[in-house]
Amino acid sequence: MEERLKQAVRDIVGPENYSEALIDLISHTYDASAHHHRPDVSVWPVNTKQVSRLLNLAHAHHLTVTPRGAGTGLAGSAVPACSGMVLDLCRMNRIVDIRIPDRVAVVEPGVVYQDLQKALRPYGFFFPPDPASGKVCTLGGNVATNAGGLKGAKYGVTRDYVLGLEVVLADGRIMRSGSGCMKSVSGYDLTHLLVGSEGTLGIITEILLKIDPLPRAVRTTLAMFEGIAAAGRCVSDIIRSGVVPSVLEILDENTLKVLQNHSKIPLPRGKAMILAETDGYTEAEADFQMDRVTKVLKRHRAKEILQAGTAQESEQLWEARRAAGSVAANLRPANVSEDVTVPISKVPDLLIGISTIVRDHQLPFVVFGHAGDGNLHPKIMYDPTDADEVRRVTRASEAIFRLTCRLGGTLTGEHGIGMAKAPYMGLEHDAVALDVMAALKRLFDPHHILNPGKMGFPPERECA
Ligand SMILES: Cc1cc2nc3c(=O)[nH]c(=O)nc-3n(C[C@H](O)[C@H](O)[C@H](O)COP(=O)(O)OP(=O)(O)OC[C@H]3O[C@@H](n4cnc5c(N)ncnc54)[C@H](O)[C@@H]3O)c2cc1C
Repeated sequence: MEERLKQAVRDIVGPENYSEALIDLISHTYDASAHHHRPDVSVWPVNTKQVSRLLNLAHAHHLTVTPRGAGTGLAGSAVPACSGMVLDLCRMNRIVDIRIPDRVAVVEPGVVYQDLQKALRPYGFFFPPDPASGKVCTLGGNVATNAGGLKGAKYGVTRDYVLGLEVVLADGRIMRSGSGCMKSVSGYDLTHLLVGSEGTLGIITEILLKIDPLPRAVRTTLAMFEGIAAAGRCVSDIIRSGVVPSVLEILDENTLKVLQNHSKIPLPRGKAMILAETDGYTEAEADFQMDRVTKVLKRHRAKEILQAGTAQESEQLWEARRAAGSVAANLRPANVSEDVTVPISKVPDLLIGISTIVRDHQLPFVVFGHAGDGNLHPKIMYDPTDADEVRRVTRASEAIFRLTCRLGGTLTGEHGIGMAKAPYMGLEHDAVALDVMAALKRLFDPHHILNPGKMGFPPERECA
């Protein structure tokens, strides 16, 4: 990157929001995946006007720009694959407005997920998506990856709550999309096109979110099974039973072993576990749904069924579930964490298929996930300095993607395409759909300056 361009960038944000220091460049080289690439400069804009001026400059000089939230992404989406400028939005972190009678919260992109929850709690409201990284990830990152979480089965994902956006386009123009209304069919739905676009179409500078009243009653139950296939079949039947649990998670034998060995929470022995939560605005409502769930668990011969007696016991179980990925990661220096998703009825097939594939590639792995919405997280551990293990983990991941697509599923339910899944877009999307995506990219970002190297666009167009 030329010196005069660096100076122009520094002039826009001020020296306090600009860095070429190695420590900052290295921090912005990584996200939570194994991908990495170093940027030329790191920038922390503090308002929309600065973002607009930066993009205007970048557009004119074909300078690549990679937006970034907290860098917790698991697909390499925030890694600056073509160097250039990292635009770290974490200093735009104001909760601008909370309008309870409208069911709307207005936030800047750098607000941390959990900080919005804390601000909403006194009003008896919440923002449901609940990513396990909620203590650190930003709402801008959540919108850009369409993040989901434990409550997806009942409450959906981030996209279901984004009403409107302020976005800075690649050439620096500022666009508002959507509105603070609960419904609108006015024009094309630009808001939802931008949700999940991973910073490739524009920089999100303000978000209008729909919020929900907090349920007042919650029941949590765990059930142990003889095998993962039996637990998978039970999940399908719970969904068929006519109630939608607020959380319906599945953990395989390997995950249970890792948790038993490394976490302080005592868990019963078994080969698979289902963790279910029901909620409602009255105790009777939560009980009614949990009774239905329990009947199905019994019909499927769950070995042991335990209900959390207190809110504290219940929170302990969810803490264990949230920790599963991080605890398993300790088994090897590196891991890939996938988030393949299939129609709910295909969960048993995917569970069995994943276990067979990874076992055949002889790598340590765990499988857990949000079975209630068909989203599973196979996590495969490997040593990045061992070329053979790297080859095996790549092959195993590809085999999992192929199986998922054969089952009518999708490469990613919540982590995004990023660099990790870019080579596999053709497995899921037909040539016409890929063509339309490429045309949209050209329309929004004719010079391909926004987050290049992601989404599977032809590499020769990227990193110019
Ligand atoms: C321990 C752990 C648990 C996790 N659990 C979950 C989970 O349960 N569910 C889930 O969905 N994910 C999960 N993740 C993945 C990750 O936390 C999410 O993808 C999250 O949404 C990323 O937010 P971030 O602020 O870290 O964004 P980053 O990783 O910094 O960026 C993610 C993407 O968003 C883009 N972006 C960021 N801000 C903007 C902006 N303002 N405008 C335009 N583009 C932008 C970036 O360019 C990048 O493409 C987990 C990660 C970890 C490490």
